[in-house]
Amino acid sequence: MTATATRELPHVKQRNGLAAMFARTWERDAARTDTLESVFWLTGAGALSLMFAMGAPISSVGDALTTIGRATGIVAGQMMMVQLILAARIPWVERRIGHDRALLMHGQLGRMGFFAMAAHVITLVLGYGARTQTGWWDQSWSFLLHFGSDMTLSVIGFWLLLAVIGTSLAAVRAAWRYETWHVVHLLTYVSVGFAIPHQFSSGTTFAGWAGTGLATLARWYWIALWAVAVGGFLAWRIGRPLVSFFRYDLRVARVDHHADGTVSVWVRGRGLDRMKALPGQFFEWRFLTAGMWAQAHPFSLSAAPSNEYLRITVKVVGDHTEDIATLQVGTRVMVEGPLGRFRADLRQSPGMVLVGAGSGIAPIVSVLEGLDGSAPIVVMLRARTEDQIPHLDEVREMVRERGATLYLLTGRRGHGWLPEGLAARMSQLAPALAASDVYVCGPEEWAGQILDEARRCGVPEQRLHREEYVW
Ligand SMILES: Cc1cc2nc3c(=O)[nH]c(=O)nc-3n(C[C@H](O)[C@H](O)[C@H](O)COP(=O)(O)OP(=O)(O)OC[C@H]3O[C@@H](n4cnc5c(N)ncnc54)[C@H](O)[C@@H]3O)c2cc1C
Repeated sequence: MTATATRELPHVKQRNGLAAMFARTWERDAARTDTLESVFWLTGAGALSLMFAMGAPISSVGDALTTIGRATGIVAGQMMMVQLILAARIPWVERRIGHDRALLMHGQLGRMGFFAMAAHVITLVLGYGARTQTGWWDQSWSFLLHFGSDMTLSVIGFWLLLAVIGTSLAAVRAAWRYETWHVVHLLTYVSVGFAIPHQFSSGTTFAGWAGTGLATLARWYWIALWAVAVGGFLAWRIGRPLVSFFRYDLRVARVDHHADGTVSVWVRGRGLDRMKALPGQFFEWRFLTAGMWAQAHPFSLSAAPSNEYLRITVKVVGDHTEDIATLQVGTRVMVEGPLGRFRADLRQSPGMVLVGAGSGIAPIVSVLEGLDGSAPIVVMLRARTEDQIPHLDEVREMVRERGATLYLLTGRRGHGWLPEGLAARMSQLAPALAASDVYVCGPEEWAGQILDEARRCGVPEQRLHREEYVW
């Protein structure tokens, strides 16, 4: 382990001002996140209230089951909408919730929504069967064949959802290539599209109360909710990348091959300031060349973005990253983003402890570039040997300019977060840890060990930031 460039930092007054500013920004952001989550819950409560206001009979078993079926259908519909919003990559949502957390919630809601959907189907089949005194088998066929094409579509949608849920099981995901899983996963959107019409044409909330003021209110309520969810999804997942494509005219400008085997790709564009990308954020990159255009992969910025250039640094781990290493200058590029909360402006305290390993060093380099030297910065980079650290010369230069401290944690893997044979507390390596935020990016287990060590040293949860390279 080597440490370089330690210096006593002045600017104490300025640092106190900065601390107050970061705390205020954090509080404001946390309040907005709470507001967003409250809106999600309140819209669901509103939808259920409308349903109950229109009557929820429970006087017979058939009625009770049908009421449960209607309620679970509304819950499932609501969950689908929130899922769409979470996957839409809307900047406001991304900033409040974070891309990785949004994806996690999207998955959790998908599983819960599936159970709500299954309960909706089963209780309605049993409820209608009890009311009409036909068995569940006849009732299922009746829904499929005699309730109109919207109902048939929704039944097909439910089977598609079953296929998606099956392929989202951890064992299947681990065995499948990301691309294969992703194509099947896209069926969810077809399934949602198939489910929406029956809600309006067959849902008793609307159909049974047609013409009444309450039904009109409920209809417009749902139309508004679906318009926001589907419209937001289409606007940000399809519209935004297309607008960026024409507006910024991104093209590969240079491809650098580093000694450690990683590859840096410089992408040139016009007026990139308007993207409002920040160091540490990532984009979904689609390189428009044969064999690559169909896939978008996430890569973090490895340099602070400028008005003209973006840079990523890629570790070759599979077929797509292999192709990136052979990209031709001039290749057109389409991006989705900027995404992610691994950005210095979301910290709570002025000090920074930046810790990276492997391909996780990329966002650390760009976050460092975006910092000035007005508060303590400690950078820790983990690798087997120094020549396996990409952009090390750049990092050394930036550390020197900012009066920061750099630790190169090189050596064989040990039991904890430090290399074999080394023992130190994070608070010893970063004396200003108590007034710092910790940013970590690297292999999952190792990054977890870093965060645990920071917690043991007393860093509160909201000052821990982690970019996870998982899907
Ligand atoms: C937010 C984020 C930022 C990232 N930033 C960087 C970076 O700066 N530098 C870097 O080298 N790597 C980064 N990665 C990892 C990088 O995206 C994958 O290594 C790359 O997509 C692998 O593609 P492949 O086809 O070559 O390899 P494969 O063999 O197909 O995949 C290897 C592993 O990469 C992951 N992966 C593959 N395709 C995708 C995809 N489209 N979306 C998400 N994950 C996928 C899967 O976990 C898979 O098991 C980042 C990942 C995420 C989620």
